[in-house]
Amino acid sequence: MIDFRSDTVTRPTPAMLEAMRNAPVGDDVFGEDPSVNKLEALSAQLFGMEAALFCPSGTMTNQIAIKCHTQPGDELICDKLSHIYQYEGGGIAFNSGASVRLVEGNRGRITADQVRESINPDDVHKPVTTLVSLENTANRGGGSCYNFYDIQSIKEACLQNNLSLHLDGARLFNALVAKNETPAQYGEIFDSISVCLSKGLGAPVGSVLIGKKDFIKKARRIRKVFGGGMRQAGFIAAAGIFALEHNIERLAQDHAHAQMIAKVLQEKDFIGTILPVETNIVIFEVKGRYTAPALAAKLKEQGIFVIAISSTQVRVVVHLDISPVQVNQTIEVINGL
Ligand SMILES: *Cc1c(COP(=O)(O)O)cnc(C)c1O
Repeated sequence: MIDFRSDTVTRPTPAMLEAMRNAPVGDDVFGEDPSVNKLEALSAQLFGMEAALFCPSGTMTNQIAIKCHTQPGDELICDKLSHIYQYEGGGIAFNSGASVRLVEGNRGRITADQVRESINPDDVHKPVTTLVSLENTANRGGGSCYNFYDIQSIKEACLQNNLSLHLDGARLFNALVAKNETPAQYGEIFDSISVCLSKGLGAPVGSVLIGKKDFIKKARRIRKVFGGGMRQAGFIAAAGIFALEHNIERLAQDHAHAQMIAKVLQEKDFIGTILPVETNIVIFEVKGRYTAPALAAKLKEQGIFVIAISSTQVRVVVHLDISPVQVNQTIEVINGL
């Protein structure tokens, strides 16, 4: 089975498992887990920020950040394809009582002008705009990346209008590798950053939320309220440390594999538009003799798992557990269709 459904399907390697087995642990709710403390310090240091918080999922880190940055009745600005809006179960309303101003971006990315146009005037009729949330890479944008100067322009708009700026960086390291950028660049701009360890980085569980000391103190309290205070979490934090230490640079290989797959798809008459492949995700249109679900079923018969994300679109995600040999096998199968 060659599993391109998501980069969340990776299993810990023997070396990662060894690091987990050997992790020193303690009760993290008491602040006594050395491995969790190490992961949080390492994450903060990597981004040049003051503090970090280890959480069970990226949904939780995003939702905690939104809760920290807003009051009930406030409004946040994000792209209409954003994970925080589309795939977190209505958590913005449920957890924070906040409303959302959706922006029609370009493959999941919004601009400073769009942010400015979306800020409510100081008018009792309107919710108070307090937060902008960006996603990089943008999942539904096909793994698209922001240009850093566009983020800088958005930051300017935020500063001028007293808005906080959050980054859903579930796949931020894919963007950093693709664009040759550094975590510190992002740490300088964002008020909070959420990073998934369980996607391309290959850890089994966990995300980190990174920000200023006071922000993380507040976030720690909210994590407890959300039921995310964990005890001997060092075993999984150790996997996160291992991932940050070993699995960042190799993301370039996933990106190259995604390009190879896109190239062979391009030549097939039943494939329509392929979203530009910038990182590890390939989203393409299916036409003619296949619908998207029919193509997914056809590939499944040959042991290749993909997801039909609509009746006409299929998503392929490359990750740590996809080997060069498997990419070649996939290309052969596609060629034979
Ligand atoms: C996966 C993902 C998350 C968080 O997902 P969890 O499954 O809750 O860890 C957040 N944002 C984006 C863009 C994602 O792809």
